[in-house]
Amino acid sequence: MDPSQIIIPVELLPSDGRFGSGPSKVPAAALDALARSGKSLLGTSHRQPTVKDLVAELRRGLAELFRLPEGYEVLLGNGGATAFWDAQVFGLIESKSQHLVCGEFSSKFAQAVAMADHLEDPEVISSEPGSAPTARRAGDVDVYALIHNETSTGVALPVERPAPEGLVTVDATSAAGGLHVEPAEFDVYYFAPQKGFASDGGLWFALCSPAAIERIEKIAASGRYIPPSLDLKTALENSRKDQTYNTPALATLFLMERQVAWMNSNGGLDFSAGRSARSAAILYRWTEESEVASPFVTDPRFRSNVVGTIDFADHIDAKQISAALRANGILDTEPYRKLGRNQLRIAMYPAIDPEDVERLTHSIDHVLGALTDV
Ligand SMILES: *Cc1c(COP(=O)(O)O)cnc(C)c1O
Repeated sequence: MDPSQIIIPVELLPSDGRFGSGPSKVPAAALDALARSGKSLLGTSHRQPTVKDLVAELRRGLAELFRLPEGYEVLLGNGGATAFWDAQVFGLIESKSQHLVCGEFSSKFAQAVAMADHLEDPEVISSEPGSAPTARRAGDVDVYALIHNETSTGVALPVERPAPEGLVTVDATSAAGGLHVEPAEFDVYYFAPQKGFASDGGLWFALCSPAAIERIEKIAASGRYIPPSLDLKTALENSRKDQTYNTPALATLFLMERQVAWMNSNGGLDFSAGRSARSAAILYRWTEESEVASPFVTDPRFRSNVVGTIDFADHIDAKQISAALRANGILDTEPYRKLGRNQLRIAMYPAIDPEDVERLTHSIDHVLGALTDV
C-alpha cells in the first residue's frame, strides 16, 4: 500500500504539523509579529539601538528564565552550537576535557577536541545509543563536557557537577527551555535558538558562570592562537555591549526574544518545562497502550521530555508511518538519519502544544490501522 494515499480525518490532525527536532516549530504568531515589524527591524544596523535593545532584552530574558545567580553572564555569537564546540576548543579547555558521548551530537564535540593539536586527547566516556553514560571525577580534567539532551537518541541526562574543580560545560541545544536545570551545577550552558526556543538557526547562546568567564580571560591572555570568529573573549566583550563580533541574523534574534518573553510571562521554566513534561507524559502513555510502539530509551529515568524516540515492532515499517504523516501535513517525524532504527522521533519543545501531541498519537493510530488493514 502507498502510505501517501492514506487520508487522516481532519478531526484527528494536530493544529500544527511541525514535529521536527530542529529546526522546530516556530509559532505562527511570532512569524506574524516578524512580518508586522515591517521596515523597523530587518534591514537595519545591528550597531544601532533597535537591535542592541533586542539583544539586551534577550540576554535579560534568558537570565530571568534560568534564574541566573549574580555574576553569571549571557554570551552570544554566530555559528550555532557547532561553532561553540570549536570556541571551547580554543577558549575554554585548558589542556584536557572529559566527554559524555551517547549519540551523534555529543560525539561530534569530542571529535572536534580530539583533532586539536594544542590539547591533550580527550577522555571519552561513552554508552550505547539510547542509554546514558556517567561522568567521573578526574584530576587532570579541566572541562567536563556534558550534554543535557542527546537530540539524536532522545536521551535526557542529569546536569550535575562530577567534581568540585574543573568547569562543567553543557550542550543544552535541545534541552534549554524544555528541561529544568540548576545553574549551580554548570559553568556554561549553551544552545542554539532553533530547537527549544522556537526560532531559526545560526546563533549560539552561552550562560556563563564567573569561573567560566575567568577561564575565558585566562586563556585569552595566554597567547594561544585563537581564530577571531571563535574568540570567546571577543564574544564576551561584544555581548556585554549587546552586540556580536560580526553580523547576526536579526530574524533569529527577534523570534527567539518572542519565545523567551512568552515563557517568562507565563511563569518561566516551570511553565515551559511543564509543557514539555505534559507532552511527554501523553506520548509515553500512548506507547504503553500500543501493541506495536515502545520507547527506544528503555530506562524511564533517561527518557526525554523534549525529544521522544519511539520504536515500532518489526512487522511495521516506521518509514511508511512518517511518509503517511508527511502526506497529511505532519512533518519531520523521521528518526535521526544515522541512527538507522525503525523509529519515529517527535519533538516536544515548549512551543509544541501538548494537545497536538495527543492528536499526533491519534493520527499515528489511524495510519497504523490503515497500514495493517489489508
Ligand atoms: C542541533 C544540535 C547541535 C547542533 O546545533 P547547530 O546550531 O546546528 O550547530 C548540537 N548539539 C545538540 C544537542 C543539538 O541538538
